[in-house]
Order: sequence, then structure tokens, then C-alpha cells
Amino acid sequence: MTSLVPSNSSKSFMGEAMETYYQTLKTEAGSAAVEYLKSRALSGASGQSFRLGYVANPLPGHEQYTGMLCVPYITRSGVVTLRFRALPDPNPEHDPSDPESAEYLPIMGPKYKSVPGEMPRLYNTPDLDRREPFVCITEGEFDAMIAHQAGLPAVAIPGVNGWSDWWGRCFKGYEAVYILSDNDPLKKKVNCRPCADEGLQECKGHNVGAESAEKLAAKITNARVVMMPPGHDVNSFVKAEGPDALVAKIGVKL
Ligand SMILES: [Zn+2]
Repeated sequence: MTSLVPSNSSKSFMGEAMETYYQTLKTEAGSAAVEYLKSRALSGASGQSFRLGYVANPLPGHEQYTGMLCVPYITRSGVVTLRFRALPDPNPEHDPSDPESAEYLPIMGPKYKSVPGEMPRLYNTPDLDRREPFVCITEGEFDAMIAHQAGLPAVAIPGVNGWSDWWGRCFKGYEAVYILSDNDPLKKKVNCRPCADEGLQECKGHNVGAESAEKLAAKITNARVVMMPPGHDVNSFVKAEGPDALVAKIGVKL
């Protein structure tokens, strides 16, 4: 049986796990994970405040997360869940002088693992308690961390398909809710239903990030979609242009 509020014993176990993995990140065992976080333009201060960790010696029941990053979901009442993210292997052929050259190889297998029985949750809810008249929503924890690091209040949702209708009330009362949208290259789908419904013979191609952001915007009062430049998500945009460029793009004053 899953519950919104974990039991105290479950919370204290997660708290212990979070601290263990956080401490591991700062040791030699966590050095590859630290390099990866740096490559995502995440600062040490962010890693500390978000209590990111690395699983080298898993706590009982966490064996399957060995070698993964730990991303705790911290609320005002403590840790409510842990998510684990696979770390990619460095690309041996990476050419630092070529901006198109990938630093890391693609991840094989699942990118994220949640603890069993876990429900979708909002990430970084403490940012909903800030005093700005606006808030940002991203899809994915890294983008929220990066936006937060740029000075913006930001929470992440686990994809539009993970949206729970009662989250709508978390975003009521803001003058604006900015949905920071990935700007993906157009992708053609085989047997595309929406395109067939439009009477098209072949899929016209879809910007998955943009379509997802539009769907999300339809569910939230005062939502505005802020599209990243072509080919970028929040993280890659900030890495390329710096945090001030993101704030300027949204058009808010901090
Ligand atoms: Zn289509």
C-alpha cells in the first residue's frame, strides 16, 4: 500500500540512505559522479543543497542502485522518496574542441529507477514556498536543479503522463507559471494516430518536448510555455549560454 506521506520509519531509513550516499559522493568512490554533475553545469553548492549522492555501498534493499546517482525528494517534512539515476560512461573519443562531440556515451537500459511502489511526485517542492509571484516547472529533476541554481523558483514533474490532477492547486495563486520546454528536433512516428486523424498519409514529425509542454500548460491556470532554443533543454541551454540567459529568456526580475 502506497501512501503520500511515508511512515516515520520509512522516512528515517530514507534519510539515512540519503546522508550515506551524499557522504559517499564526496569520497574517491564518488569522483566519477562528481565529474558527471560538473558536466551538467551543476555547482557543488547545488549538489550539497539537493543532497545528491552516489551509491557505492548500498543500504539493505538498495543493491540494485549500486553505481547510480541518488536524487532525494526533500520536502518541508523531510525526505519522501529517493530516485536513482544511471551514470553514463565517459566517451573515450570525446573531443573537447568540438562542441558537437559528446562527453558521455548514451545510457543503456533504464535511465531512472524509483523505489518500488512509488507514485509520481513533484520534485523540489520547497521552491513553492518562496515569495516570487511566479514559479517554473520543468520535466526532470536536473532541469529544475539548474533553474533553481540560476535563482529561479523551480519544481519538476515526472513527465506530463505522470501528472496528478490535484497538483493543479499547488500552482494556483501565481501570476505566472512558466513551463520550461525542451525544444526537441522533429521526430516522425510510425502509425502516428494524431497525424492520421488530420488526414495525413505520413507523420509530419513531432517536437516531443514542445507537445508535452503544451499539454501540461492546458492543465494549469496562468501557465505560459517558455521554449528553449532549438535542440536545447534547460540544462544544455544554461550550460551553453549561462544562467542569466535563462532568466532573461523567461523575462522575469530576480
Ligand atoms: Zn505524427
